[in-house]
Order: sequence, then C-alpha cells, then structure tokens
Amino acid sequence: MLDAAFMCRWMSVTAAAVDREAARLTDLDSAIGDADHGANLRRGFTTVTEVLTKETPDTPGAVLALAGRQLISTVGGASGPLYGTLLRRAGKALGDATEVDRERLAEALGAGVAAVAQLGGAAAGDKTMLDALLPAVEALGASFAAAAEAADAGALATVPLRARKGRASYLGERSVGHQDPGATSAALLMGALAEAAA
Ligand code: ADP
Ligand code: MG
Ligand code: MG
Repeated sequence: MLDAAFMCRWMSVTAAAVDREAARLTDLDSAIGDADHGANLRRGFTTVTEVLTKETPDTPGAVLALAGRQLISTVGGASGPLYGTLLRRAGKALGDATEVDRERLAEALGAGVAAVAQLGGAAAGDKTMLDALLPAVEALGASFAAAAEAADAGALATVPLRARKGRASYLGERSVGHQDPGATSAALLMGALAEAAA
C-alpha cells in the first residue's frame, strides 16, 4: 500500500532525477523552446522536497496536493502550472485515505492527466508531456515498471511529431526531429515513481 511517506519518496526521487538530468532537459528545450525547462523543474522540485521535509502531510493525497501547489507557485514556465495541476488534481482524487493501492493511484493520475489536457488544450500526438503521461497512466494499471517504460516510449515517440501546443508550436515543421522536453521530464517523473515503488 502507498502512504504519505511513499509519495514524499516519489517527489524526492523525482527531484534527484530532475537535478541529474537538468542539463539534458534544457538542451532539449533550447532546440525547440527557450532553454529553461531544466532550470524550471529543478527550481520547482527542489522547493517541493524542501517543503515536504518541513511539513509532511499525513495522507498521500495531501502530499501530492501540496507538491502541486508548490510547482504552480514556483515554476514560471508552462510546465509549472501543468505539472502542478497533474499532482494537485491527483491528490484531490485520492481524498483523505491514509493508504491507497496502485490501481487507485492510476485512477487519480488519470484524473490529473485529464485536467492537464483541459488546462493546456492539448491532446495525444501534439508533442507535449501528454504523449508520455497518457500511455504511462494507462500502463500503471498493469505495473509501475510498465508505466515507466510506456512513458519512456511515449517521450521517444515525440521525436517525429510536429508540435501543436506550447512554444515549440511556433517552430511549425522545424519542431520535427526533436524530442519534446516536457515529455522527457514526464518520463523522469514516471521513472521516479517506479524507483520509489521498487
Ligand atoms: P515554457 O515553454 O513556458 O518555457 P517549459 O520549458 O518549462 O515551459 O516547459 C515546456 C514543456 O511544457 C513542453 O516541452 C511541453 O511538453 C509542455 N507544454 C507546453 N505547453 C503545453 C500544453 N498546452 N499542454 C501540455 N503540455 C504543454
Ligand atoms: Mg521552456
Ligand atoms: Mg520559459
């Protein structure tokens, strides 16, 4: 069963992964965006872990909701409100249960991903974080490892796509041939979830 401590671990493993991969995320964003994705997420997840060590909420839902609020308030770029919405909505969907199982987390993240799609107006194939998040949340019904693999595959599959949302869409055809930074960070988030569960 997954409790508040598990969700804190997920967030700190994510922060470590984002820290380690920040330069790569920024490189990807320099090709089709404004070269700040690594710095944006590093700032956001660093604050998330700082806040969670100071005050650890006692339910998994409250941990995700708090993490989401932190991302919204500390990340200036598009990814802050989007990831913030993902976690806040998922946290809300978990309610005040003190422990949840993987299936329940998959459902909650499904609600979070739907909220991201609504906020950003993007759909599958638009070359955004959703291209990693949608297949990952679907696969989370099977296992944590399957979700991480689906996110990686989804991120890789953004390379040939033409961006239809976000800054990369300003490039039109020139966005083709580059991996989407947000889909890449979404794969880090799902990889961290699998690592936290292992
Ligand atoms: P910004 O583009 O404001 O600099 P970031 O660089 O932090 O923000 O994040 C860019 C990423 O955000 C993109 O690679 C993409 O995955 C994601 N993104 C941007 N706009 C949208 C949207 N409307 N819907 C979903 N994801 C989006
Ligand atoms: Mg950017
Ligand atoms: Mg920016």
